[in-house]
Amino acid sequence: MLLTGKTIAIVGGGPGGLTLARLLQLQGVSVQVYERDADRTVRQQGATLDLHEESGLKALETAGLIAAFHARYRPGADKTRLTDEQGHIYFDDHAHPEAPFGPGQYRPEIDRGPLRDLLIDALEPGTIKWDAHFLSMEPQGAGWQLHFRNGSHYADVVVAADGANSRIRPLITGIRPVYSGITIVEGNIYHAAKNAPNLHALVAGGKVFAFGGSNSIILSAKGDGSLSFYTGTGSQRTW
Ligand SMILES: Cc1cc2nc3c(=O)[nH]c(=O)nc-3n(C[C@H](O)[C@H](O)[C@H](O)COP(=O)(O)OP(=O)(O)OC[C@H]3O[C@@H](n4cnc5c(N)ncnc54)[C@H](O)[C@@H]3O)c2cc1C
Repeated sequence: MLLTGKTIAIVGGGPGGLTLARLLQLQGVSVQVYERDADRTVRQQGATLDLHEESGLKALETAGLIAAFHARYRPGADKTRLTDEQGHIYFDDHAHPEAPFGPGQYRPEIDRGPLRDLLIDALEPGTIKWDAHFLSMEPQGAGWQLHFRNGSHYADVVVAADGANSRIRPLITGIRPVYSGITIVEGNIYHAAKNAPNLHALVAGGKVFAFGGSNSIILSAKGDGSLSFYTGTGSQRTW
């Protein structure tokens, strides 16, 4: 195999990097994930993700992790309400019956935290180097020397999985991320039933999309009893 005997560095331990690491390990490839987070618990993970049959679910199936997903996904988390800025409901699919898992329910939801946990737990021990903040890299021999805030490592092949503001992407393309004109701020309300009872009731275990003018709020219930929110603010600025 092309990758036999090679060292693969994946920079970024998000869902993309972790899934690729698992898939490569299933093929017997030597892989190291470099993640800037200090450890797996240091950061609050965001709201639920819906996984689609042809992409996220397919990747988990191929990675042999669909049973683990099934044990952690959140039936009903996809139930959506659309409201205006006053909370008046214009669409509500809580009345519709819950579709069973499998063909027919194409977009089951899972909290980002449990998804990340199941991917991390599927990797061989020591695969992830935490607290590895990538800074730069340069060619060395047939491979690359990677520099992190706290050290350097060699790899034959480097995979950029470091998200939207990737530090590696500029080495591959001059195309830069584009500001969409919408600024989103993410937050989390712990113990939502106690701390935000009205919002907790409105969300009812699912999601609320509230729109007013060019602004929006997305609320998403999480399995740990917290409530994730995204405030979206439109701007006139175009790039
Ligand atoms: C509001 C919102 C809602 C979404 N909803 C859905 C959904 O319902 N379903 C769905 O499938 N997708 C959804 N997405 C998209 C999904 O979040 C992304 O596709 C996914 O997170 C991309 O994964 P990734 O691993 O490529 O990157 P990321 O998730 O961005 O992970 C990048 C990782 O790299 C690490 N990193 C960054 N810089 C460095 C560095 N210099 N050195 C080392 N590590 C670094 C970060 O800490 C992070 O762990 C949503 C996105 C947003 C913003």
